Amino acid sequence: MILGALEAGGTKMVCAIGDETGRILDQTSIPTTIPEETMPLIIDYFMDKDVKALGVASFGPIDPDPTSETYGYITSTPKPGWTNYNILGELKKTYDVPMGFDTDVNGSLLGEVTWGSSKGLTDAVYITIGTGIGGGVMSGGNLVHGMLHPELGHMLIIPRANDHYAGRCPFHGNNCLEGMASGPAIGERWGRPAKELAGQKEVWELEADYVAQALTNVILTLSPKRIILGGGVMHQEVLFPLIRTRVKECLNGYVRTSLLDDLDNYVVPASLNDDQGIMGCIKLALNALE
Ligand code: ADP
Ligand code: ZN
Repeated sequence: MILGALEAGGTKMVCAIGDETGRILDQTSIPTTIPEETMPLIIDYFMDKDVKALGVASFGPIDPDPTSETYGYITSTPKPGWTNYNILGELKKTYDVPMGFDTDVNGSLLGEVTWGSSKGLTDAVYITIGTGIGGGVMSGGNLVHGMLHPELGHMLIIPRANDHYAGRCPFHGNNCLEGMASGPAIGERWGRPAKELAGQKEVWELEADYVAQALTNVILTLSPKRIILGGGVMHQEVLFPLIRTRVKECLNGYVRTSLLDDLDNYVVPASLNDDQGIMGCIKLALNALE
């Protein structure tokens, strides 16, 4: 059975087809410019593929509530052309198949708990640290949406006293995780792209401090059984031990579980070679069929 997958990002749209085992059979990438240019290319991609269902995981904010009038929309994004854009509706004009729709990060989480090293987990959090920061949440086997959907990337954090960087979040300045710890924030603070700062201890210690503050809050509020960290910045593997050490210090022994005794298996990297997002879309498609 052929399932369609669209991972809609602010920079690129990844389109793929796969099967019910999560195997990707074909994949392509289309730059995200304006809907009038980008959407016809996406629609073209699926034209001759005979997909039985389509899973869409999108950058946001989005409206993931099927009972809402604006279900399937990308809502308040500042990205020109995509504000209040009915992305699912546009696909439905051409394709009359069941469609699943969720946030990009819930998609990645779904990929990891379906086909990754976190397979079978029902309570987990996935956080991507890249151009932006976002988090997906699964609780009791359900992807969490609630009032809108979680916005873990904008979790408030306390800046370090010796960090004078102003932050780059237009809403929260130097007080939120994305504003202080995204790839571009690292680049702006240190005057060089994050990728080129490998080996600079102070860069990654500071980064780990902010990520650990957020993870501590995630542990205290959501009580996940595992936290998966993905995105470009997390390619700096040195971050993992630094983050685990700081999480332990921040919790300071307050939460006691066997899972937290083994932080190496509690704070883990994404496991699907950066395919977790698109594989999650395949699972969203599969879920939509059921
Ligand atoms: P996106 O968030 O746009 O989907 P990525 O997750 O790949 O894409 O994140 C891109 C960001 O990650 C860039 O800001 C870049 O600075 C940062 N980045 C990419 N690779 C690395 C690396 N090896 N080390 C540190 N930062 C990186
Ligand atoms: Zn913010």
